[in-house]
Amino acid sequence: MRFPPAIIQLRRAQLILMLVVLVPTILMTMLGIVLLAVGSSSVTVFAGVLVLTFCATAVTGYVLVSIFVGKGASLARVQNDFFSSVSHELRTPLTSIRLLLEPLAEGKLTEDERQQVAKLLSREVGRLDSLLVRTLDLSRIQSGRHAFTMAPVPIGELVAEAIAAFDAVTATRPTPITTALEPGLIVHGDRETLVRAVVNLLVNAWKYSGDDKQIQVVARGAGRKVELEVTDNGIGIDPAERTELFDGFVRGKAAVDQGAPGVGLGLAIVRAIVRAHKGKVEVMSEPGRGSTFRLVLPRGLPATAAAPGLAVMEGR
Ligand code: ADP
Repeated sequence: MRFPPAIIQLRRAQLILMLVVLVPTILMTMLGIVLLAVGSSSVTVFAGVLVLTFCATAVTGYVLVSIFVGKGASLARVQNDFFSSVSHELRTPLTSIRLLLEPLAEGKLTEDERQQVAKLLSREVGRLDSLLVRTLDLSRIQSGRHAFTMAPVPIGELVAEAIAAFDAVTATRPTPITTALEPGLIVHGDRETLVRAVVNLLVNAWKYSGDDKQIQVVARGAGRKVELEVTDNGIGIDPAERTELFDGFVRGKAAVDQGAPGVGLGLAIVRAIVRAHKGKVEVMSEPGRGSTFRLVLPRGLPATAAAPGLAVMEGR
């Protein structure tokens, strides 16, 4: 037996709710008003008040249930969009792999051509792998299934770990990063995911800048928050594209024109991580001159003054 998609089921639930609750309630409200208007005895007036009270309760219940059903419907819509984006993105590398395998299977290629095809196949498989890993990461964080171990994390250690991971990823084209970190800064958060967020920003700064790459990490305290910025002198971002780049599976025109590899999930993961920390991510950019991504995170207390690391599940 096949069930209709969640979004259609929720719409049907909304319609049934309206017919079963709202329509009889409206009829009963009219009855209550008539009883109050024409009632001469205290019994009819009391019955009218009772009917109207019941109707008011039913309408409140209807409104509350519709809010919950509406929220469910918009969640189902988001999930639907997510699934269609993933399927769409999976098709591109899979189609390339199928096309590349055909001449290999026919066995008519020269040794040079075989090597060329093998290189392209490896690139497409890498793309597929990165897409799946990132999709799973994003879905785990957004659905609240990722266990965040919240503890004080010194900014110096966080940035050093992120730069070490960045160096490993960009070993083909080593790029020094300059840092200006206010001493003694601590954030309250999950070390592993925060490092991942900073690495994503560093790798983007590297990917989306020209030959003379200048990447800088700055951290400063701002009241009960800590601001951590990654700045580059790269291609920059069109103002019209700035907000949607965090939505997932969205890539800027300049990035696509430049031919930089990517699946458009890095910033969505950064935003999901930062939101799970009750923080935010901001972007300032000038096309052709560079960009700054700023993470605003909750400030932490030194380890001795704070409670020990606490594992919590948080999402969105
Ligand atoms: P990906 O890098 O895989 O495309 P991201 O989600 O990390 O995915 O980035 C989404 C888009 O945001 C990129 O395709 C690019 O257009 C833009 N972008 C991100 N970081 C930068 C940056 N530092 N400079 C210019 N554009 C950037």
